[in-house]
Amino acid sequence: MLKMNNVWVAMEVARKARDILGANGIVEDYCVMRHMNNLESVYTYEGTHDIQRLIIGERITGIAAYV
Ligand SMILES: Cc1cc2nc3c(=O)[nH]c(=O)nc-3n(C[C@H](O)[C@H](O)[C@H](O)COP(=O)(O)OP(=O)(O)OC[C@H]3O[C@@H](n4cnc5c(N)ncnc54)[C@H](O)[C@@H]3O)c2cc1C
Repeated sequence: MLKMNNVWVAMEVARKARDILGANGIVEDYCVMRHMNNLESVYTYEGTHDIQRLIIGERITGIAAYV
């Protein structure tokens, strides 16, 4: 649950930082987009919300809901 939340919060922080920088948040002069790309990778390889919820759900209920 902690892993799911901290990756999500990090993505939200990076998105907000890009938003605050406006057009500068998209150009290469600032590194926000690089952080966003890195975090999208982390979100994939550490487990998306879909996968984390399936794992947590199975642990709580004992029922595997994987398709
Ligand atoms: C930068 C990077 C480094 C990596 N390094 C390694 C490494 O060192 N070793 C290694 O073994 N692998 C590595 N990987 C691979 C990584 O483990 C997989 O990309 C990851 O497990 C997701 O699998 P996938 O890409 O097949 O996506 P998929 O499993 O196909 O997922 C695609 C989408 O489908 C959804 N989905 C999948 N299954 C279900 C389901 N049952 N129910 C609902 N939704 C579902 C997911 O949530 C996601 O949105 C790396 C990936 C990246 C991006």
